[in-house]
Amino acid sequence: ASRSPLLLESKTIAGEKGTASERSFVMIKPDGVSRQLVGKIISRFEERGYKLVAVKSLTPSEALAKEHYSDLSARPFYAGLVKYITSGTPVVAMVWEGKDVIKQGRRIVGATNPQDADPGSVRGQYAVSVGRNLIHASDAFDSATKEIGLWFAPEELSDYEPIAWPWVMA
Ligand code: ADP
Repeated sequence: ASRSPLLLESKTIAGEKGTASERSFVMIKPDGVSRQLVGKIISRFEERGYKLVAVKSLTPSEALAKEHYSDLSARPFYAGLVKYITSGTPVVAMVWEGKDVIKQGRRIVGATNPQDADPGSVRGQYAVSVGRNLIHASDAFDSATKEIGLWFAPEELSDYEPIAWPWVMA
């Protein structure tokens, strides 16, 4: 059922932890876009039963990329990481919603280093290098809250009920 957009403001931005309204920030990185894997990656979340709450394609500013990865600013690969994300080939930024989506999203994505990733995961199926690992997904409720707020304005997040929702979420 569609609700008043004003109600969005009363929700926490990453939904409610551990419930069907939990939300995660997922981003297809420039290598995923350049390699034309956008549809395949989106399908994994869609077919599992998660709800697409927001999606946009953009080349992030350096400031946005730096803030997104601020926890890693002391790491030796940080500058290269920011350069990769802001390369000029766009990213696809998304918010997905559903039961346990933060943890399950990490399983869909696979281990940070594709060499360690389960072959059924996105990174394990399509990537070989940690520096070009195709996709990002929030790793915890707090980072999901930060990242959704960083990449999206509240009015960009849709509130609707997919037709299959009662079957998926029962
Ligand atoms: P994840 O993306 O799985 O949450 P991290 O938060 O540890 O992993 O790292 C963020 C991103 O930084 C990784 O997805 C990858 O793009 C990049 N990265 C991590 N470790 C390395 C590394 N050793 N060399 C190059 N890039 C790295």
